[in-house]
Amino acid sequence: MKKSEHTRSGKEQVRWEGYDCTLCRSDRRTLSLAFSPEGEILIRMPQHMPAAQAHAFFTAHLGWIDVHQRRIRERNSFLGQESEAALIARAKEILPGRVQHYARQMGLAPAGIRITRARRRYGSCSAAGRICFSCYLMRYPERAVDYVVVHELAHLVHLNHSAAFYALVGQILPDYKERIKLLNHYTDGFEE
Ligand SMILES: [Zn+2]
Repeated sequence: MKKSEHTRSGKEQVRWEGYDCTLCRSDRRTLSLAFSPEGEILIRMPQHMPAAQAHAFFTAHLGWIDVHQRRIRERNSFLGQESEAALIARAKEILPGRVQHYARQMGLAPAGIRITRARRRYGSCSAAGRICFSCYLMRYPERAVDYVVVHELAHLVHLNHSAAFYALVGQILPDYKERIKLLNHYTDGFEE
């Protein structure tokens, strides 16, 4: 599966109270504040909302923003120390067991598992039944990792993203939509 693509229409950079923020206007109805994985601030807002209104929302949450941004940056400096070799080693240690666990539950048997250095996709499944996982998946929470495992295993049955495919995924992981959110770039945030 590929990383989710974000629509980046109507973007504007501003600097508020010493923070660089990206205003992202779309058809939504409410304001929301979120962080990118790098700790950048993203403010999603309705198309025609005055910037002053978003600014008031922003300043009302300054305390939260400060704490949260620091937390993300600390987490990133920790993650940054882990080399690709270490990620590959961890993936080789963890993923075969997760695949075996879910494959048994689903009554499936992949033809093989391979760990890759892919940066733009978390995993893939070939028509021959071989499953690949990116070592960078190891930077995500366990619940997100398990979702990718089940996602790729479900491709052994459905080589598409049809309703039947997601029905199978949902049968194994009823909360799969929550898990997809963990994989999403902008997971840290809240709605107004
Ligand atoms: Zn897929």
